[in-house]
Amino acid sequence: MLAPAITNALTIDVEDYFQVSAFAPYIRRDEWDQRECRVERNVERILELLAANGTQATFFTLGWIAERYPGVVRRIVEQGHELASHGYGHERASDLSPAAFTADVTRAKHLLEDIGSTPVQGYRAPSFSIGTGNLWALDVLARAGYRYSSSIYPIRHDHYGMPDSPRFAYTLGSGLLEVPVTTLRLLNRNLPSSGGGYFRLLPYALSRWMLRKVNRDDREAAVFYFHPWEIDPQQPRIVGIDTRTRFRHYVNIHRMEGRLRQLLSDFRWGRMDQIFLARAAAPA
Ligand SMILES: [Zn+2]
Repeated sequence: MLAPAITNALTIDVEDYFQVSAFAPYIRRDEWDQRECRVERNVERILELLAANGTQATFFTLGWIAERYPGVVRRIVEQGHELASHGYGHERASDLSPAAFTADVTRAKHLLEDIGSTPVQGYRAPSFSIGTGNLWALDVLARAGYRYSSSIYPIRHDHYGMPDSPRFAYTLGSGLLEVPVTTLRLLNRNLPSSGGGYFRLLPYALSRWMLRKVNRDDREAAVFYFHPWEIDPQQPRIVGIDTRTRFRHYVNIHRMEGRLRQLLSDFRWGRMDQIFLARAAAPA
């Protein structure tokens, strides 16, 4: 059966395996520079997969990565993808003061724009760390010149989430558009159906069913996300971590690339700015 002709947003959070928030208790920030970096080869692999499918995507890129690997940023832009911001240092927005958050998102935006020679309009908070306790962060983003955010996840999760927030794109008083990653409404709950560990954990057919249901029943574009380290089964293993963190990070990582190929061919995909900003600007 053909998927409905809706263009969904494909998004990649460009960070390396050692920068994942769940590893923060085990890997000190000042050790990052000593770790083997895998992000260049992994982004290159993703660019090949996208080119083979004629697909364009949005890359929410860390300033820390852009500074050390400017070639990665340039390659993303050269290939026609949208360059967006994942902040500078992958600190959860909910851990930062307004001043520190402002500095982080401003530094990342300028750095990415300088290296990529392109405007950066979108932002995604590390670990979807904007929610009930720090909605001021959305005003900071608008003031820093961002036009949209994809930072509030309308689910219940032990690390993040704001389950009562809207499931689809909405404009805030500041004019900033918030575009949540996709959930499926089922049995009075929002189920994550848009990537990350859930996509690796669940059978592919179930993920496909959920995305199709959003396209067909909600008549909305889905927002899917993944990370470069998720297609890298050879990444150095972090030892001494707790069982749950280990499971979430490594489950089915060897299946991810095959599933992504399938996902790319089963749905139509595009960039966040072209799907959502164009729509927001169009007359109702
Ligand atoms: Zn991240």
